[in-house]
Amino acid sequence: MTLRGAVVGDPVAHSLSPRLFTAWAKQRGRDFQYEALNVSAESFEETLLLSLAESSWLGWNVTAPHKEQALALADELDGSVDQPGAANVLLFREGRAVAHNTDAQGFLDSMQAAGVSVFGARAVVLGAGGAAAAVLAGLRRAGVVEAAVYNREPGRAVELARRFGAVSGSLADAARALPECDLVVNATSAGFAGASPLPVGVRFRPGSWAVDLSYRPRETPFLIQAQAGGTRVLGGLGMLVRQAALTWKIFFGETLPEDAVAAAQHDLEAAL
Ligand code: NDP
Repeated sequence: MTLRGAVVGDPVAHSLSPRLFTAWAKQRGRDFQYEALNVSAESFEETLLLSLAESSWLGWNVTAPHKEQALALADELDGSVDQPGAANVLLFREGRAVAHNTDAQGFLDSMQAAGVSVFGARAVVLGAGGAAAAVLAGLRRAGVVEAAVYNREPGRAVELARRFGAVSGSLADAARALPECDLVVNATSAGFAGASPLPVGVRFRPGSWAVDLSYRPRETPFLIQAQAGGTRVLGGLGMLVRQAALTWKIFFGETLPEDAVAAAQHDLEAAL
């Protein structure tokens, strides 16, 4: 029987996940079909129940806007969802959905692969949505010495900061904090609007790292701004590939070899 998987979101047409999983399935000789499923928030629960009843489904990756709903509807929770408070993987097992989160560890794995040191760092996170929560969970797990979260709507940052023992504020506050930080992560979707979330003229600490979770275009406005300020920069493709590799492990119980993961990232870099 051909096993099935999908990334479920709205919108989802431009997802790179089918390309990743299809390539890995071919390389590993797995009879596995992976697709992008556009499902609205209103029909998420019904689609989940129908898929759980089909034994060919191994599980889903879940992307915006469904990560909280996936957690709420799951029959069982893996410990990885506790801190981020959201699920980006649902494993289907005997008609039950088991919620996992691979975003937090995927973020950390991508940092390690790129040689970005997190332990002991003073970190700033921009944004207060699901991605920011996963990044904060990862940063806390990896032993940052200070964490701060800044958002366009500062009230949302306050709530997130409370969960992770972080400082919070507005994006204008972020601009003031940057000269003292070792690592700044853009977890906003400002890039979709072709903009950096930070004001023009903001100062970075030369030699620090700037990471953007967005990967379209490869050189985002935030990364261009940060590089001009003397930082080292990293885009979001690494996190995408690493969280997918962790999903593969959940689906098949198999750790992908490092060369398969690195090759997948090169393939996506070339495709963008
Ligand atoms: P959410 O919708 O949950 O949160 C969006 C965040 O972006 C909010 O904090 C919002 O602020 C902020 N924001 C939106 N537009 C602007 C703007 N113009 N200026 C400043 N801030 C803005 O999204 P997610 O947390 O799920 O995703 C955030 C980003 O991370 C996306 O670009 C997504 O593609 C990327 N991502 C990448 C992953 C990867 O594997 N590389 C994995 C997951 C996400 P406010 O609260 O004020 O509205």
